[in-house]
Amino acid sequence: MQIPFNKPFLAGKELDYIKDAVHSGKISGDGAFTRKCQQYFEHRYGFLKTLLTTSCTDALEMAAILSNIKPGDEVISPSYTFVSTVNAFVLRGARIHFIDSHPDQPNMNENLIEEAITKRTKAILPVHYAGVSCNMDPIMKIASKHQLMVIEDAAQAIDSFYKGKPLGSIGHFAAFSFHETKNIISGEGGMIAINRKPFIKRAEIIREKGTNRSAFFRGEVNKYGWVDIGSSFLPSDIIAAFLFAQIEHLDQIQQKRKLLWTQYHQAMLLLEKEGKIRLPVIPGYATNNAHMFYFVCRNLKERSALLKHLKSKGILAVFHYLSLHKSAFYKKIHAKRKLDHADRFTNCLIRLPLFYDMTNQEQDKVIGEVISFYKK
Ligand SMILES: *Cc1c(COP(=O)(O)O)cnc(C)c1O
Repeated sequence: MQIPFNKPFLAGKELDYIKDAVHSGKISGDGAFTRKCQQYFEHRYGFLKTLLTTSCTDALEMAAILSNIKPGDEVISPSYTFVSTVNAFVLRGARIHFIDSHPDQPNMNENLIEEAITKRTKAILPVHYAGVSCNMDPIMKIASKHQLMVIEDAAQAIDSFYKGKPLGSIGHFAAFSFHETKNIISGEGGMIAINRKPFIKRAEIIREKGTNRSAFFRGEVNKYGWVDIGSSFLPSDIIAAFLFAQIEHLDQIQQKRKLLWTQYHQAMLLLEKEGKIRLPVIPGYATNNAHMFYFVCRNLKERSALLKHLKSKGILAVFHYLSLHKSAFYKKIHAKRKLDHADRFTNCLIRLPLFYDMTNQEQDKVIGEVISFYKK
């Protein structure tokens, strides 16, 4: 039995809706399915305005433009994150001030933000790792005190909450991903949530190549033209058709993922008690959307041995981010500050297979092999 790390899945009517989109005669952006998806997210989660994008990376690039990031500006980001979180801001000329994770979980340590702020700081980038919320109240408080933008990287955070508030609804902007590795998918795909009214019009323009095409189609202006910078950030309605079919089964998908997550967690409790691994920490203010099941090994050598053991049994477990302050691209620019926790998660964190179609038999095999590794 080979067990992949992830397997894209059909939740329901994906192929029917793609057919519908094609037969409708309009498969470019902002068609009927795009509108249905956006309305759904706005109603369900209270995002002020959402726009589907071609990826979360593109949603982040839109957020960087909307935040008016200029060369020399600084943004504060966790080092333990995906390159897209910060690349979007580097593209606008920003300098990234990387800060460390919490000792017990990979999210940015909000206590380190204020000392990282300088006259040039423009934005804070909380990344909700594994769909578990950053501590947003202090982050929003610091941002408002220093007049900074907050852009939530909510790529992994659909249907997750902070003190009852949906993630992605708190910062000025939030970026979601529907990449095939996330909870709900469209192959590639993403969405920007815009939670402050003054930014909505400009967001539509930036997404439509810098034109006021959206306003034109609503009849608000009688011709459309080039009014700002922008790019082509809107996905085909074929992508939205796929996504809408997934959305219809969101609760069912979440239920299954949470069941798998809980089964992993239960099965690994003893290993944690024996001091062999550290299980994920979910703070009281956060929910768990079961985006990912990870745990933290004692050291790099042990993690490598575990990955190798699982691979020899046909199980594809994987490590995750390589802290960005040590990346080939940024290590020369990063000041010499040490970010020990980010480095430890780089070296010791392991993710186990978790996907909608995973069978109990498959999961039992993964659990059995992890436990047998630690018995040796
Ligand atoms: C997946 C992911 C992204 C990128 O998403 P795309 O849709 O592939 O661009 C960005 N940030 C985080 C934290 C992610 O997990």
